[in-house]
Amino acid sequence: MNATTTLSADRKRFSSIQNHAAFSVGKAAFLAAVRAILPVNPTSSDWVHAAETCTVECPKCHGTGLYSWGGTVNGKPVHQGDCYQCGGTGAQNSDDFARNHVYTLHAISNACH
Ligand SMILES: [Zn+2]
Repeated sequence: MNATTTLSADRKRFSSIQNHAAFSVGKAAFLAAVRAILPVNPTSSDWVHAAETCTVECPKCHGTGLYSWGGTVNGKPVHQGDCYQCGGTGAQNSDDFARNHVYTLHAISNACH
């Protein structure tokens, strides 16, 4: 594999993760998290590595890892469990982006039928 092929593969991989992240946590939050861990003078593979390893605070549970539904009674949530978007960790990584992307498309598809 020559350098040009590697560069184009890296770009493809990066934009794939970015597309997933845009659905899941938003493009701006994703790019901020990537830039925060990029080394000085990053190569294309550094960008891919950063995209794969960065974590973004989960917008669904605001970083708490807990998701509540059904309202509150006496100030306590009626139902509470691990946030499904981040798996209860409060932060999303590239695996979560991909999973939530599929989930979101499924939900949109259901809503349109
Ligand atoms: Zn969450």
